Amino acid sequence: MKKSFAFQMMIFIAWIVFMPISIYTVYRAFPPPTDIDWSLLIGFTVLGLLTSTYPVVINGTPFFLLQWVSLAVFLKFGLYIEIIVFQISIIPFLYRLKLTRQSLYRIPWNSMMFFLISFFSGYIYLKFGGNIHSLDHLHIIGYGLLYIVINIIANQVFLQLSALLLGNKLPLFTIDDAWDYVIGCFALPMGLSLYILGEYAGVISIVLLGIPFYMMTQLLQLYSISSKINKELSEAAHFGHQLADQLESEETLDLFMERIPKMVEIDGLYMIDRRKQTGSLSVLRAYENGQEILKNVTHKELSESLLKHTLLTEEKVIFSKRSEWLLPSRNYLLPDSQSVLVLPLSRNQYMEGVLLLTSKKKNFFKEYQVKMLELICSYFAVSLEKARYVEKTRHSSERCGLTGLYNYRYFDEYLTKMMQDLKNHNISNLSLIMLDIDYFKRINDSYGHQSGNDILCGIADTLRREIGGQGTLARYGGEEFVILLPNYSKDAALNIAEHLRQTIEAQPFEISPDLMENVNHLVVRVTASIGVSSAFEDTDEGTTLLRNADHAMYIGAKQQGRNRVAGF
Ligand code: GH3
Ligand code: MG
Ligand code: MG
Repeated sequence: MKKSFAFQMMIFIAWIVFMPISIYTVYRAFPPPTDIDWSLLIGFTVLGLLTSTYPVVINGTPFFLLQWVSLAVFLKFGLYIEIIVFQISIIPFLYRLKLTRQSLYRIPWNSMMFFLISFFSGYIYLKFGGNIHSLDHLHIIGYGLLYIVINIIANQVFLQLSALLLGNKLPLFTIDDAWDYVIGCFALPMGLSLYILGEYAGVISIVLLGIPFYMMTQLLQLYSISSKINKELSEAAHFGHQLADQLESEETLDLFMERIPKMVEIDGLYMIDRRKQTGSLSVLRAYENGQEILKNVTHKELSESLLKHTLLTEEKVIFSKRSEWLLPSRNYLLPDSQSVLVLPLSRNQYMEGVLLLTSKKKNFFKEYQVKMLELICSYFAVSLEKARYVEKTRHSSERCGLTGLYNYRYFDEYLTKMMQDLKNHNISNLSLIMLDIDYFKRINDSYGHQSGNDILCGIADTLRREIGGQGTLARYGGEEFVILLPNYSKDAALNIAEHLRQTIEAQPFEISPDLMENVNHLVVRVTASIGVSSAFEDTDEGTTLLRNADHAMYIGAKQQGRNRVAGF
């Protein structure tokens, strides 16, 4: 968090004034022993520096396990020396913070915080009757426990206080805090061992205990990594199954865009589509900082820099920091992106697209994550292909191949569903229009089957245009069309039917008759007979509604001379 210059100066001045006075006061109140074992003191300090240089990283958070060294130093040399050793030990920690000019104030700030933590732990130890340099085992175990508990509590309190004062948001209790307590449990026996062994064996104790301590921290780290891998792997397996269940391509894409950021904590995710014929690139879906967004990036921008290698070789690329990919050209990623992973999305030996994942952290993508993501991508490609295939099959099973309208199979099912909706009062009325072209056989006989087909398509287009979203249109048989109109009363449906009849009557259809020599183009006119039936006025059965409309069409329209509309 950026702070004003004045604020920073204030912290620095406070530090310059506070530290010498406080350290001097501690020196006067709790003077160091006169006979200092310098080799041991230097050994402890080196151990402190090493512990702070190589923190244990758990779930991405570094832990500086300095408490055990602090405890040993305190038990051996008292409060004043502990404060000095601790202030020296945190130098690598402060360096690791990678502070910028604006956040330099955190050096004096942290220094003062750590001073207070050291002070409170030691002060309470001494105030409650704890002794320095005691070799009474029960005494140091009991008071050592007190020291560590106060140390951990003070650490938490100052962390919260510091967040409050600096205006940084900090959750009250995180998994990191839990780790802090777990590590604190190790600090007591390790710190006591270091102190006691230091008493008896001197500086060699640093090596004897330093090595097992280092190994313990490595094991902790391994444990944390492997539990993270386990969690991510089981999530990936679950995700794979979910992908396999998807039957619609849009939903497959939705699921992918939703789940990937949950599995790997990325900041940006871009699915880039590559057109088969032209090879042109476009952003199909994009996700930034926790939500899906619309992102317009030109083909030129996409084909440069980041994707170049993958487009050429169809291989994945991992960039671990900004300097590896940053080019002078304008880039479309989030401003502070560092790590970038480019994965090809291939299917049947063709790269259909590219997946781009970004993080604001350096060295973010771990080898196992990349492997897992590659696996997920191949699952994704297969599931997308399956979804597209299902959609295509469904489409062709529901549609008439000639006109593209719904077929009778779809219509029958839809009619049953709408009839149920009517019974459940989801809709108020349900009307059905049945339309049959008059003397259609003659058209086939005079101009050929192809011309008949052209007219069927023409009529389908007209109906589609006129009905729009008012109802559902299907080709029910050879030259018969049906329209289902939810919420339309019989009178309203009769009006629509009449309008359709007039429109068809008035519309010229252009055909190229193959049965007539020397005639390339011909304009013909057709008419239609229409029957209308409504529920619940005429029936409460879907099949009867159809039969009634058919009946009305034959008796009321065809038999009365055709080109007319009849209600049941
Ligand atoms: P009506 O006025 O009584 O309805 O006379 P019509 O000739 O239209 O009636 P009929 O049912 O006797 O003839 C329907 C014709 O529609 C028969 C068939 O050749 C034709 N037909 C059915 N399906 C298609 C098709 O997909 N393409 C073409 N070109 N003609 C078709
Ligand atoms: Mg007919
Ligand atoms: Mg017919």
